[in-house]
Amino acid sequence: MTPGVRAVATRARELLAPDAVIDDRARLRTYECDGLTHYRVVPALVVIPEDADQLAGVVRACAEHGVPFVARGSGTGLSGGALPHAEGVLVVTSRMRAITDVRPEDQRAVVQPGVVNLDVTRAATPHGYYYAPDPSSQQICSIGGNVAENSGGAHCLKYGFTTNHVVGADFVTAGGEVVPLGAMAPDAPGYDLLGAVVGSEGTLGIVTSVTVRLVRLPEEVRTILVGFHSTDAAGAAVSAIIAAGIVPAAIEMMDALAIEAAEEAVHCNYPAGAGAVLVIELDGPAAEVAAEYDEVERLCEVNGAFEQRLATDPFDRALIWKGRKSAFAAVGRISPDYIVQDGVIPRTALPEVLRAMGELSAQRGVRVANVFHAGDGNLHPLVLFDESKAGEAEAAEEVSGAILDLCIRHGGSITGEHGVGVDKARYLPRMYTEEDLDTMQLVRCAFDPDGISNPGKVFPTPRLCGEVPGRHKGAHPAQEAGLAEVF
Ligand SMILES: Cc1cc2nc3c(=O)[nH]c(=O)nc-3n(C[C@H](O)[C@H](O)[C@H](O)COP(=O)(O)OP(=O)(O)OC[C@H]3O[C@@H](n4cnc5c(N)ncnc54)[C@H](O)[C@@H]3O)c2cc1C
Repeated sequence: MTPGVRAVATRARELLAPDAVIDDRARLRTYECDGLTHYRVVPALVVIPEDADQLAGVVRACAEHGVPFVARGSGTGLSGGALPHAEGVLVVTSRMRAITDVRPEDQRAVVQPGVVNLDVTRAATPHGYYYAPDPSSQQICSIGGNVAENSGGAHCLKYGFTTNHVVGADFVTAGGEVVPLGAMAPDAPGYDLLGAVVGSEGTLGIVTSVTVRLVRLPEEVRTILVGFHSTDAAGAAVSAIIAAGIVPAAIEMMDALAIEAAEEAVHCNYPAGAGAVLVIELDGPAAEVAAEYDEVERLCEVNGAFEQRLATDPFDRALIWKGRKSAFAAVGRISPDYIVQDGVIPRTALPEVLRAMGELSAQRGVRVANVFHAGDGNLHPLVLFDESKAGEAEAAEEVSGAILDLCIRHGGSITGEHGVGVDKARYLPRMYTEEDLDTMQLVRCAFDPDGISNPGKVFPTPRLCGEVPGRHKGAHPAQEAGLAEVF
């Protein structure tokens, strides 16, 4: 333990309950990774504050002693964002689980960052509302993690991502100051600093309270499971539905390999022999849903659907979703190891990219299962391998990178919703020039001049704030243009 960490531990013991400060190596190992388990780092210290004051006190101590810190919610992240720093403090929000306020009349709820996503909906449902962004991990992931990753989910096609549902936050800066961002009412004046914090992957500071927008429960919901012989046909149906002006609450696609895995794991009873299935959900006023349902059914049929099944009761509906939402974990049934990839492409490029992915998979002998938010063009290829077999891990890694290249080439991006974290920092230069990355770092430096908040994440070549970057021996072009300053 460095002298700095020792000093932070001493301060933390003054501020927090005795069992909320962990420096025992065996217990620290519990926190060595997030959902991306092949990166592991044991933190020097773990703190589990109960409120914003305790959390800010620890961060202030980190700032005073130049100690890096990393926020952790539920640790379900898939890009290594909550991977600890070996000489740093891991700040865990799992004891900050209070739903402070539910205000149906304002369509707002105020929650602490450790609150589990689904618990917001559970608290709002008796009032006729729910929280719309629904990552498949919603039974366990935290709102703080959702804010940091700008998480998406099946229903974000119609309702928007986390950023569209967070209107305010209390935020602990890297210096340990608590500042309010945004407001209960929409469109607070001034720069949209809340917008900068949402999706910043814990690199700007730590969110200690979140004000979210609640959405009215729809009058009617219809969930349809549709079987196709191929992903091409299912992709064509997706395009046809959107082109018809219908925006379903969700359109999710799974290919044959993903269906096989889900069947083995949760017996979801998807159409036998399907090359692809779509899970389509329509919601809204009953009359609108009825009209849209007829049209969706017709468009699926025209595009080759061989079976269409409308959920007839909540059990049926839950089983359809269980197949989809269990798919990542289910893949463990058909492969000992796999990479959960996350990329995004324009929806219209789906058939072409899926075909190219199939060719890549055949050429390299690496199986790829696909399960994704088809309406958003947000792909989740699951690249399967067996670590115990020589060369398989490397081949899977290569295919995984090549899939991201495909996404970029088709006008998409290297991450749709899982974030860059530690895992994809190396891919960022494939999308952005050095100048772009330097400009992003200027934003980071404005929030965290000493670079202690989640260092080593997102940026491929982290620099100290004020360091003259790469090729620009003088000022950065953004500085020369009077658009930015280096502090
Ligand atoms: C089975 C499975 C399914 C998934 N499905 C989806 C999906 O459909 N959509 C999706 O978007 N993601 C999905 N994910 C990824 C993951 O659940 C999300 O990224 C989620 O938002 C992470 O929340 P968490 O609480 O686990 O955060 P963590 O993993 O603990 O942290 C994630 C990042 O947030 C930062 N962070 C955490 N709390 C705070 C805070 N209070 N303030 C500032 N920064 C903070 C961390 O430093 C880290 O960078 C899935 C993961 C799994 C395992």
